[in-house]
Amino acid sequence: MEFHLCARCAPRYHDLGVATSSPRDEACHICKGALLQIQKLVAQAVDLSDAFEWSSFSVSSSFPSSCLVREEEIADFAGPGKFTSLKNQINSELSGMISKETGKKNAQRNADAAFEFDFINSKCAARPMPLFLFGRYIKLSRRHCQSRWHCSSCRGKGCAYCMGSGMNYPSVEDEIGKAVLPFFSAKECILHASGREDVDVRCIGGRPFVMEIRSPKKRKEDVSQIELELSKNQHVKAAGLKIVRQGMIDAVCNSHFDKEYSALVSADRPLNAEDARICESLSGSVLLQKTPNRVLSRRADLERQRRVHAVRADLAEGGRLTLRIFAEAGTYIKEFIHSDGGRTTPSLSEALGCKATCEELDVIRIQDYFLETLL
Ligand SMILES: [Zn+2]
Ligand SMILES: [Zn+2]
Repeated sequence: MEFHLCARCAPRYHDLGVATSSPRDEACHICKGALLQIQKLVAQAVDLSDAFEWSSFSVSSSFPSSCLVREEEIADFAGPGKFTSLKNQINSELSGMISKETGKKNAQRNADAAFEFDFINSKCAARPMPLFLFGRYIKLSRRHCQSRWHCSSCRGKGCAYCMGSGMNYPSVEDEIGKAVLPFFSAKECILHASGREDVDVRCIGGRPFVMEIRSPKKRKEDVSQIELELSKNQHVKAAGLKIVRQGMIDAVCNSHFDKEYSALVSADRPLNAEDARICESLSGSVLLQKTPNRVLSRRADLERQRRVHAVRADLAEGGRLTLRIFAEAGTYIKEFIHSDGGRTTPSLSEALGCKATCEELDVIRIQDYFLETLL
């Protein structure tokens, strides 16, 4: 059996004694001359990669399916494992050529730059891989939501209702983005966080997050400048910033931590020292919480048990109480206070025998010690 193969394809089958080199590369039985472009495409791709900073790269390639079919035919004839596949061979050649040209290393799994070679359309691309920035954010505003939330009237285009912003609320994602995007010369960033607080709830205890930064033209390890920049933002700040691997997104998003809250509570009558004592007596109680009314349209109606580890209550002005509540991950605190029409029991309303209202709520501590071991 004899095939005409090009100088690039022939060595892959050399041991089989089935191939002869063709005088014309275009007549190659496998690639039909597609690999003639390899030098040109590598030069183009390396040029493209000048547009951004990178120090390691990955390579991928695509071929016309007819090439792969012809290779299959030879594979059937030769038996498996007897030759190097077109893809493996070319990827390793491409990798070697890029290394030689740029002096940089192939790091297939954790690369800064992705080189893509399309031998079907004779095209190539070089793209910066996303960066992942871990940190803990502090939200000092009662009118910021966590992720971008497009205006319900115009769906983000900007209208009179949202005053041209395209958003229902300003967001933590955008505030951090304002500092992050110019720093990395990136176009887009996406916030992944460990849970979320309501728009009107401040988060004083830092909430763990990973910011995914798409298409960064710059890559820097020293990210302290971002913290400094955010320290001037009166609504959102961030601490403990660090570049991490993509896997931290799952670690952060799937984590559930016990939290401590501060709540300012009023009622339909003035609250007194005896009421404070009653609140504290709920320390250690296990709540039965049905899915809150306010989220029932979006979530399944379930009943869950959550433990309130500790409650401390102090008298505040105007017949109100300031509560410190330390509760299990996933406890609905506002509902624990007002009872949600009896859907949460026990509750402060129930215990105090009046209509209690949560006027202000802050997350003051997120017990995320386990993250320290991951970082
Ligand atoms: Zn060939
Ligand atoms: Zn709008």
